[in-house]
Amino acid sequence: MTVDWEDFGQLHCWYQFETVPAPRGDIERQTDTVLELLDETGVHATFFVLGMLARHRPDLIKKIHAAGHEIAVHGTSHVHLTRLDRTSAMRDIGDAIRLISDIIGGPVFGFRAPIFSITRKNLYVLDLLAELGLEYDSSIFPKAMSRYGIDGFDPEPRNYSLPEGGQIVELPLTVIPWCGWNWPVAGGGYVRLMPRLMLNPMVKKLKKLGRPYILYTHPYEFDTQPIDIASNFPEGRRFSPWRRRAMNFKWNLFRGTFRDKTRHLLKNLSFSTCKEIADEIKNSPCTRLLG
Ligand SMILES: [Zn+2]
Repeated sequence: MTVDWEDFGQLHCWYQFETVPAPRGDIERQTDTVLELLDETGVHATFFVLGMLARHRPDLIKKIHAAGHEIAVHGTSHVHLTRLDRTSAMRDIGDAIRLISDIIGGPVFGFRAPIFSITRKNLYVLDLLAELGLEYDSSIFPKAMSRYGIDGFDPEPRNYSLPEGGQIVELPLTVIPWCGWNWPVAGGGYVRLMPRLMLNPMVKKLKKLGRPYILYTHPYEFDTQPIDIASNFPEGRRFSPWRRRAMNFKWNLFRGTFRDKTRHLLKNLSFSTCKEIADEIKNSPCTRLLG
């Protein structure tokens, strides 16, 4: 169970206007909702923390950490990593590692790229992660989608030896083979839009596959109140009312079902942190990573 810990309003302001405002109070309510659900189901999760939010709310990171969850890294600025050169990617990830380690007072071990943006074009990012001392990555979507993914990438978690001599455990996002097609079921919009009827067959299939289910979520998906794309836009900068309505419709669609569906998955499958899974795999024989 993983949470890409980022703030909806802050992120969309950054996307639209390239400014990073302080997050509003929503992130606290959303984080508390996630923590309550994890407490209720007895699950320890991994939170991939975004640097631009961490700078503003170190108190919440300490709270998550104190509740026994793993803190890992989601980069600093939530830029698609294929848009950064090697030096900029190294700086973006390295800055986040230093900031978040300082906040929790200890090392971090894992990374998830914004928008799952480790693809065939930039597999060298895995070398950077090993160079930065990380032990695992959970960024690769083993199916090509419009903005991310690698068709044919091995969906099993594996220990890889890297072209530049390092080593890393990769925990790919989950797809399940079903009726001749690989279905993305790893979380986010895939779970939000999934009919409840599919949950039990999916749980059965995941148990049969015997491979860890890497489930990703975001704090806003658990919010009990409607979310607004423009909630954190700067004064005087706004979308047309039509565009704002259309975007809000998209982000709120079936969102009220997400918490219950996640609860069902948490209760019916067993979960551990990514670090615990990576520890089981990291001493197994290495597979060579092929570009
Ligand atoms: Zn993200």
